[in-house]
Amino acid sequence: MITPVLPSYSRAPLSFVKGEGAWLVEADGRRFLDFGAGIAVTALGHAHPDLVAALTNQANALWHTSNLYNVPQQEALAERLVEHTFADTVFFCNSGTEAGELALKMARKYWTTKGAPERMKVLTFDGAFHGRSVAMISAAGSEKLTAGFGPLLDGFEHLPFGDLDALSEAAKAPDVGAVMIEPIQGEGGIRPLTDEQLKAIRDICDQHGHLLILDEIQCGMGRTGRLFAHEWAGISPDIMMVAKGIGGGFPLGALLATEEAAQGMTPGTHGSTYGGNPLGCAVGTVVMDAITAPGFLDDVNRRAGLLRQKIEGLVAAHPDVFAEARGHGLMLGLVCRVPNIDVVNAGYDAQVLTVPAADNAIRLLPALTMSDSEIAEGIDRLDAAAKAVKARAHDAAE
Ligand SMILES: *Cc1c(COP(=O)(O)O)cnc(C)c1O
Repeated sequence: MITPVLPSYSRAPLSFVKGEGAWLVEADGRRFLDFGAGIAVTALGHAHPDLVAALTNQANALWHTSNLYNVPQQEALAERLVEHTFADTVFFCNSGTEAGELALKMARKYWTTKGAPERMKVLTFDGAFHGRSVAMISAAGSEKLTAGFGPLLDGFEHLPFGDLDALSEAAKAPDVGAVMIEPIQGEGGIRPLTDEQLKAIRDICDQHGHLLILDEIQCGMGRTGRLFAHEWAGISPDIMMVAKGIGGGFPLGALLATEEAAQGMTPGTHGSTYGGNPLGCAVGTVVMDAITAPGFLDDVNRRAGLLRQKIEGLVAAHPDVFAEARGHGLMLGLVCRVPNIDVVNAGYDAQVLTVPAADNAIRLLPALTMSDSEIAEGIDRLDAAAKAVKARAHDAAE
């Protein structure tokens, strides 16, 4: 397609015009079951009536003032986030990348405030994805993200994901001040840390006084069956990046921190024109209230069990298409034996949406509210997609 839009994405030839819960309607009228949820964004499904009401009510009242004034919708959402997490303080922004930028600034400022400006280095991990700004591609470090965009930002050391020996060793260096990691790598191919690994990472940080920065942009907001993924390990970070699900589809990000970690961020040290605008925070408050309502996460865990069981069945039924199922809660990956994009494309033909990831995986990130029958329907469609991929591979071999 010839388009005036910057061609930085290779897009599927699909144009959706309407969303209803777990379904997306294409311009030609076909209905697709959505196992991608806009990459873990529409946590409550498409066009959830409570979110539509929150947004339209706020739109009728007031869109934008400025962070020069109090924004009551920010206060309301921050209160909820603080009540339900380790955090003492919250900054609102518009995306995950922006949350990461502040995480890095906050860690650096912490150490200068503490009189140890040499502790600028942040330990990060291969396979990571923290966003597309120069700082965040420097943090992730992979060639795929950084090629052609140098000079990159200094101050990161990249370690093998989950390699605790390498981390223990690198953490001893006097110029290290923080560790930044995803509890479950999303773009990296749904690669989870175990609870033991997360606990050990917390211990190593504590041993040296390093700040632990968790990127829960994809795995947070109920996705794993707890409000935040790190809760399963019984640990807490010092700083946490949140976005995606928190806005339910409205652009919203947040950086959560302890008072200790945030001590350098005094008036004038950071800002955002749009960050924490009334529209985003009004929607985010409804998302938070839904996810923290009694029983909601129990339902997510029950559905996650069902989906897990079904995708294990899919792997067993198609051993020449799928190698392995992995992940946690409703953040699941299928590692493919054929090119993952072939499975994603066959899914389009079968009217089911999945998301490709690194490590030749496809991701299933359904709305947290997807029903049991929709899960079953989606798996049937993936089964059809796997059969089509196999048939095509068979034809090609002849
Ligand atoms: C999506 C994502 C980001 C970047 O968020 P944007 O809103 O695209 O800037 C960062 N980290 C993780 C883990 C993500 O999944």
